[in-house]
Amino acid sequence: MEILILAVVIALVAVGAISGLVVSSRKKKQLPPPQAPSSTPTITAPPAEPHVGEEAETPREEPRRTIEEVDLPTAEEALEAPAAVEDPLVAAPPAPEIEVPEPTAGRLVRLRARLARSQNSLGKGLLTLLSREHLDEDTWEEIEDTLLTADVGVTPTQELVERLRERVRVLGTRTPEELRALLREELLTLVGTDLDRTVHTESDLDTPGIVMVVGVNGTGKTTTTGKLARVLVADGKSVVLGAADTFRAAAADQLQTWGERVGARTVRGPEAGDPASVAYDAVKEGIAEGADVVLIDTAGRLHTKTGLMDELGKVKRVVEKHGPLDEILLVLDATTGQNGLVQARVFAEVVDITGIVLTKLDGTAKGGIVVAVQRELGVPVKLIGLGEGPDDLAPFEPEAFVDALIGD
Ligand code: GDP
Repeated sequence: MEILILAVVIALVAVGAISGLVVSSRKKKQLPPPQAPSSTPTITAPPAEPHVGEEAETPREEPRRTIEEVDLPTAEEALEAPAAVEDPLVAAPPAPEIEVPEPTAGRLVRLRARLARSQNSLGKGLLTLLSREHLDEDTWEEIEDTLLTADVGVTPTQELVERLRERVRVLGTRTPEELRALLREELLTLVGTDLDRTVHTESDLDTPGIVMVVGVNGTGKTTTTGKLARVLVADGKSVVLGAADTFRAAAADQLQTWGERVGARTVRGPEAGDPASVAYDAVKEGIAEGADVVLIDTAGRLHTKTGLMDELGKVKRVVEKHGPLDEILLVLDATTGQNGLVQARVFAEVVDITGIVLTKLDGTAKGGIVVAVQRELGVPVKLIGLGEGPDDLAPFEPEAFVDALIGD
């Protein structure tokens, strides 16, 4: 009997030891990749837990071990496993808590209440006016004013009013449901449903996608770069940030904090240093560590157009030594109305903008700027900022946006 008990105990200990080894072997595979040597000055801690999407990227992992290898570890391996966890290089840095950003799907629907102010003045205002029993000239003028006040822009406003007049005439008597459907359809046409609003973060080459974020300081550029890093991490991508806004003293710290929260490295240079060299180093670092995307924040001093052109042009040229830029996002503050449109024009002359990010749409009744700026640049709005919270950046979805404007 005693022998039997002893045999069972030995068997249990053996099974425990082997399963412990399997677990530690798996844990080992989840350790972040070793830091690539780099000349860049500051690199923040890598993510403690790589995202699910990264598992497929075998080049950055240790070679996979077969079941047999896992089941039959050597004594050295068994002893090494716990030691690796205690390794001061891994354990020492005061690793900030890595956050898990919210998924991006459906963000705009979730944040639709933030568009409340736009909703009141634009969509709901239009519906109320269109519901009047007699649509006389004064009412049409009010409809026009409502659109202009919401920054839709003169030409799109005239187009919309003309189409609404025509359709309301054809409709004759109008039920509230019919009017809502009609307005929804026309606003959607105005906003555009067939534009490519994907933020292009994938390179055609075997290198990270490169995204440059431009815009006037104060528009929310750095915040947007940080939020975008979270969006990408939420989508399973690894990100390196380039703090090329060396003009604003706090910008690099701000960006680094955003990065640390989701485990993205930030490459930065000396204060007031050369933005182009920081951008270059960031892409170099991204390539070295096999990152999926490099996001570059830039300085947006509109001191003179020539100055801006020289600076951004140089950043672009220098970065392109590594490969072409995949996306150039222009950040515009939606509350600045016409000023924003002027900025858009200037930046578009300097670099080839491929997408627009409209920030601060939560604090304005000027939702119509979406239409105006797309017309102005012929470039789609791809993302919108709806608050100061870390996950308050939403992919722009025309249907959800228009529904939010009209209200349910
Ligand atoms: P930068 O100079 O363009 O880099 O501007 P920052 O990124 O520092 O942002 C300027 C201010 O705008 C900060 O206080 C941000 O929190 C705020 N901000 C940025 N995006 C939004 C947004 O979508 N909504 C609101 N309400 N505030 C925002």
